Amino acid sequence: MTTTNLCLLCGSQSLPCARIVRGEVTVLHCPTCDHIFTTQVGNADTPSAGANSTETTQDYTQSLIDSQTTLRAEFLEQARRRSAVMRKSLGKDQLSILEIGCGAGGLGQGYVALGHRYIGLDIDSRVIALAQGAGLDARHLDFMDFESPERFDVICFSQVLEHALRPRAFLEKVKTLLASPAFIHIDVPNHDTLAGVLSRGAGGLGTRYGGINYPEHCSSFTHRSLETVLSSVFGGKVRVFNATPVDATWGQVRHKSPVHKAFYAASRLLGRESILVATVEIPPPG
Ligand SMILES: [Zn+2]
Repeated sequence: MTTTNLCLLCGSQSLPCARIVRGEVTVLHCPTCDHIFTTQVGNADTPSAGANSTETTQDYTQSLIDSQTTLRAEFLEQARRRSAVMRKSLGKDQLSILEIGCGAGGLGQGYVALGHRYIGLDIDSRVIALAQGAGLDARHLDFMDFESPERFDVICFSQVLEHALRPRAFLEKVKTLLASPAFIHIDVPNHDTLAGVLSRGAGGLGTRYGGINYPEHCSSFTHRSLETVLSSVFGGKVRVFNATPVDATWGQVRHKSPVHKAFYAASRLLGRESILVATVEIPPPG
């Protein structure tokens, strides 16, 4: 499927900056907001892909499944830490939380244990079955098809926005589901990650160019592009920062080898951590 050379976030005319997949896929850069995206997206026939999103690698999905039971304590601790930030921002103890791309529901179980109301959505039936098995209100559907009369205090989506074929439309849909005040937490792969340096220096390497990894990640975000689109769609107080996967609050609960941990430490020293985190605090009206 061929897309457009208009920026997926701001609509500006974008320019080629790299070629990947043996030169078959062009990567574009938006000079206005700094977004990076591919001219084509793959049509993958896997349970992790849908009409509005690209697939997730089998390895990543398997890590969600594997970590569900073995890293339960880590998920609970991360939910406790994030919950503390959200409660402080919103000034109340019990929150309604919508998680888009909830995986096997590791964090969701933590939120429920902390007394929050929680709904998780995921496009992949394999992980939703596990989340439902854990007693969560977890629904197997594409977020773009989600409808609810409820408005949520918190909407969060981790490693999801880079899979959206129309990321701005995705964010605009999020906006329609927010209570007021509200808190949003997002994380995406960082285009300026240490792991992407080589591919960027080479003008594209294999399937990769910075945070682009075709066909899974067809959009790649920088600090500037993420901050720009969030400010434009939501207003409020937008904060964008880097984190490593081992960050206790904003990292990823996964099994990590000593080699990975050493790499994260190096990326941190260089200010090129692999995760770009954003929080948006939307104040009450008036
Ligand atoms: Zn743009």
